Amino acid sequence: MRAKIVVLPGDGIGPEVTAEALKVLRRVAERYGHHFTFTDVPFGSSAIADGGDPLPAATLEACRRADAILLGAVGGPQWDGLPPDRRPEAGLLRLRRELQLFANLRPVRAFPGLLDASPLRPEVVAGTDLVIVRELAGGLYFGTPRGRSVHDGRRIAVDTLPYAEDEIARVARVAFEAARARRRHVTSVDKANVLHSSQLWREVVTEVARAYPDVTCVHALVDSTAMQLVRRPAAFDVVVTENMFGDILSDEAAGVVGSLGFLPSASLGEGTSLYEPVHGTAPDIAGQGIANPVGAILSAALLLRHALRLEREAAAVEAAVEATLAAGVRTADVAAGQPAVSTAEFGDRVAAAIA
Ligand code: NAD
Repeated sequence: MRAKIVVLPGDGIGPEVTAEALKVLRRVAERYGHHFTFTDVPFGSSAIADGGDPLPAATLEACRRADAILLGAVGGPQWDGLPPDRRPEAGLLRLRRELQLFANLRPVRAFPGLLDASPLRPEVVAGTDLVIVRELAGGLYFGTPRGRSVHDGRRIAVDTLPYAEDEIARVARVAFEAARARRRHVTSVDKANVLHSSQLWREVVTEVARAYPDVTCVHALVDSTAMQLVRRPAAFDVVVTENMFGDILSDEAAGVVGSLGFLPSASLGEGTSLYEPVHGTAPDIAGQGIANPVGAILSAALLLRHALRLEREAAAVEAAVEATLAAGVRTADVAAGQPAVSTAEFGDRVAAAIA
């Protein structure tokens, strides 16, 4: 296969972990006979330094034309004084919106041998292997009317949570398709006992579920799901939910396995899809070569699976990460007093373990 991959390394530890993801993708290409081209384009702070706009038109165009986008992370205290729409993070939000990336997939796994990274008891977290599918392009974060005003001397603020049936159906389909490749169980999360938008959500997900008779679908309220995620995280397979609930539950799920540096994500839409670790730029450890590259490497695995449909290669990368961790190789964040390897050494070990 030939594939064009746009690379947006970003800031802080972004370039450090992205380098390891690229190392692994190059090894996959070599091992399985593919031809991947990687193109770096200005984005975030590198684009700001060039001309001010964190998402230049030429970068957006390159992203639209690519087969996939691999991103590190953007932002940092150096740019926090800029106007909000000029910060690196604004470039990322615009990129997601321009590409209509409506489904964010966040797989969360408890790696055997790393159960002590979780704040939960090992027997509770063992076996956790779930995917949160979060609606990313609609709902409360984009709905109008929104804003603040003053009425009769009182400050008032309003946000709006709109969903149209097609916006719900398209993300539900992503969840059911994901479930078909897994344990065939979808939990759709809403607040249908209170919210009209959730009642529509439940109705539409039920309709979509009819096209997937081989997948079981249950509906759950967000408050009880928040509790079940810490009581029985291993019971979940695919969780699909609207934007804000997904935002909150996916961070909770990350807390369950206890390790921000391990989590990858995929953002899917109609066109080019985007792959990035869940963590940020970690300014506190940037430049030291000690960041954990697992989230970035597993994001590369998701890129192989979803953008390039290379399931065997994706599984090989995931198995190589698991084997590396099982061999006791650890970066400093999870070394717990044991000797730690550098970001680059960890990447070398994973690349070498690709079968
Ligand atoms: P962060 O994720 O960068 O860091 C939180 C903590 O986790 C830090 O102590 C950090 O050292 C640690 N950490 C994160 N990733 C790690 C890794 N791979 N290996 C080892 N340790 C790791 O979150 P933050 O400190 O809130 O944000 C820092 C900057 O990143 C901010 O400017 C924020 O806007 C930006 N950010 C960007 C993205 C993105 O690009 N998608 C996401 C989140 C935050």
